[in-house]
Amino acid sequence: MSKPRYPVTVTQLPVLRCEICQRTIAHKPGQASEVLTEHYRRAHPESLEAAAGRPVLPVIRASRFQV
Ligand SMILES: [Zn+2]
Repeated sequence: MSKPRYPVTVTQLPVLRCEICQRTIAHKPGQASEVLTEHYRRAHPESLEAAAGRPVLPVIRASRFQV
């Protein structure tokens, strides 16, 4: 008995990994900072408050994953 094959869409998007919740966040090229800031505002507002006064967000590793 074999599992039915289904089409898999392979898309390579640049993603960020949030160091706080380990969630990968896909974004369009050139919009990393915007998407990341939005994620922090929604998911980790406390981290932004903690970093108030500093223009640097928590360390984020930028990398590419095949989704
Ligand atoms: Zn997060």
